[in-house]
Amino acid sequence: MGVCPSARMAMLRDNFTGLLRLWARPDVLTCTSWGAPIIWDGTFDPAVAQQEALQQNLTIGLTVFAVGRYLEKYLARFLETAEQHFMVGQRVVYYVFTELPAAVPRVALGPGRGLRVERVARERRWQDVSMQRMRTLHEALHGRLGREAHFVFCMDVDQHFRSSFGPEALAESVAQLHAWHYHRPRWLLPYERDARSAAAVAPGEGDFYYHAAVFGGSVAALRGLTEHCARALQRDRERGLEARWHDESHLNKFFWLHKPAKVLSPEFCWSPDIGWRAEIRRPRLLWAPKEYALVRD
Ligand code: UDP
Ligand code: MN
Repeated sequence: MGVCPSARMAMLRDNFTGLLRLWARPDVLTCTSWGAPIIWDGTFDPAVAQQEALQQNLTIGLTVFAVGRYLEKYLARFLETAEQHFMVGQRVVYYVFTELPAAVPRVALGPGRGLRVERVARERRWQDVSMQRMRTLHEALHGRLGREAHFVFCMDVDQHFRSSFGPEALAESVAQLHAWHYHRPRWLLPYERDARSAAAVAPGEGDFYYHAAVFGGSVAALRGLTEHCARALQRDRERGLEARWHDESHLNKFFWLHKPAKVLSPEFCWSPDIGWRAEIRRPRLLWAPKEYALVRD
């Protein structure tokens, strides 16, 4: 596997252990064809990432939507485990989007960590709740969230943290390899194939299949991402189209056109239903079991 230019820079800056780390995972792909690191356990030094982030005095946003039954079912555990594992030691601001602010659980927050609740309308269909997130995030990134955070992660609520998800994951734009698809050949990836859709990815196109449950980046990069996706979703809606995997299809189109600066290995958002895999050493987020009958109308 090649060594990424950006990773080599970090290596020169760090020390000799950095050199060893780059070759620590010969079992997996650790660099994209455009030179972005794909970070796996063992390929980064969490202490160095922590130190670099502290020197920059960052505020990191974490957005999550909890609308309808997703709130009582998932939100408390998501936030409680984020307190244990998400960017511990950094300044963090959670943004919870819900139609029922009074029902947001009171979670004890560590020092330097805050939580804001933003009211959103409840869409009738679950697909619309999911897709509407792009527009709402775009507005938030032009509002208080955009003013107070430097970097933001946007996540699904139906998962919980299991181990450290720290500043090693930060970059100008960050995409998450989808746990069910990272080992599949490109032609099998579930991109939107209808050429009429704004999310269409033609045969032979596409780098990876990314999971919409985790994406992130700088405020500026995410303004661009959410604007692209919200517009594309709107264009499809006006034409009576709905992409195969909703907002995720549009996110995948965006990252095909605008390559992410960093890619997170499936360890960062793993589905326990897949079972044991040798390369999955330390899952950081775990999907909740899909209980659609309970949470979707
Ligand atoms: N969501 C929500 N209420 C809904 C539908 C979706 O709050 O009725 C939010 C929630 O954060 C959820 C995300 O949108 O995690 C994406 O939906 P879901 O997780 O059901 O999609 P999947 O991961 O199964 O593709
Ligand atoms: Mn989900």
